[in-house]
Amino acid sequence: MPTGHTHQTDVVIVGAGPVGLFAVFECGMVRLHCHVVDVLDDAGGQCTALYPEKPIYDIPGFPRIEAAELVVRLKAQAAAFRPVYHLGEQVQALEALTGGFWRVTTSRGTVLQAKAVIIAAGVGAFGPNRPPLAGIEAYEGKSVFYYVTHRENFRGKRVVIAGGGDTAVDWALSLAEIADRVSVIHRRDKFRAAPESEAQLKALARAGKVELVVPYQLHGLEGTGGQLKAVTVATLDGATRRIEADALLPFFGLSMSLGPIAEWSLALQHNQVAIDASTTVTSKPGIFAIGDVVTYPGKLKLILTGFAEAAIAARSAYALVHPETPLHFEYSTMSGVPSV
Ligand SMILES: Cc1cc2nc3c(=O)[nH]c(=O)nc-3n(C[C@H](O)[C@H](O)[C@H](O)COP(=O)(O)OP(=O)(O)OC[C@H]3O[C@@H](n4cnc5c(N)ncnc54)[C@H](O)[C@@H]3O)c2cc1C
Repeated sequence: MPTGHTHQTDVVIVGAGPVGLFAVFECGMVRLHCHVVDVLDDAGGQCTALYPEKPIYDIPGFPRIEAAELVVRLKAQAAAFRPVYHLGEQVQALEALTGGFWRVTTSRGTVLQAKAVIIAAGVGAFGPNRPPLAGIEAYEGKSVFYYVTHRENFRGKRVVIAGGGDTAVDWALSLAEIADRVSVIHRRDKFRAAPESEAQLKALARAGKVELVVPYQLHGLEGTGGQLKAVTVATLDGATRRIEADALLPFFGLSMSLGPIAEWSLALQHNQVAIDASTTVTSKPGIFAIGDVVTYPGKLKLILTGFAEAAIAARSAYALVHPETPLHFEYSTMSGVPSV
């Protein structure tokens, strides 16, 4: 899609995570056409960027589905309605126009005009919390990784994992099966992970399959041309240790910020967009929000909850786009998949 153009559409969806993708489908079912913008280069939000190979167990009808596979299916389901994707573009400005239209402008100068905007921006502009290590940028994406997108890349490697939460422990358990060596650096002996996972990790450590390097913190990196040779760790007392390594996986959680959306004068609560759950409308008529980005009493941050919110948002958007024609409720078994 060429950038810097102006497009008119029924609905602009901000965010192509699982919930934004399903909103395309739900809008299509009520004959609304969508443009979807995402700052990332690929659709799928957290599923694609953070855990593509992890199985999800609580998607209705799928006893087990890998996150990447869910995204493939959501895109296929949405494709019937020919959405226009603007990937690699951040939505920056939102302005009200006359006639009940909204204008959305992206970082690449694309302008989208619509009567309804659905914000499905998840945790916003999410990025890893980086450890404060001198020169770490040179290694990022080469031998320091904040997410595991292809587990096989670590087969036969000496892997150092830093962190004490679920992500660190889960990947230690998983990579111990294929890596040459896995060392887990944590500042204390107790982990903040599911008790069964922690127990499994400690059992692997006793069996010599994982090395627990506690109580240590990351201290420095050694290597050339972006390729690590070793990681230095230190205790709070300053005692250091050198661990030879091919890859470092620091798992210190995500920093989340709403980014430009925080400047749109929407009512927020704890950095999330407050909505009326019965319609998904925000404090501005015509601007709806769904998925992880929203809050309301009882909100559950689950993909399936976001899917239901997408169905509600589509119907709310329809009422704005076609105020003259009330929506006749139909099951998909009766309507089939209409063409937009
Ligand atoms: C490790 C892990 C495991 C999980 N397991 C499960 C599970 O088993 N079951 C479950 O239900 N949930 C699970 N979740 C949570 C689930 O991933 C989220 O609930 C889901 O991704 C929310 O979808 P979303 O579309 O609302 O937001 P996201 O997936 O966060 O997508 C939002 C998208 O919006 C984009 N965006 C944000 N701001 C802008 C902007 N200004 N302009 C353009 N684009 C923007 C982002 O780039 C992103 O792609 C898990 C999460 C993690 C991290």
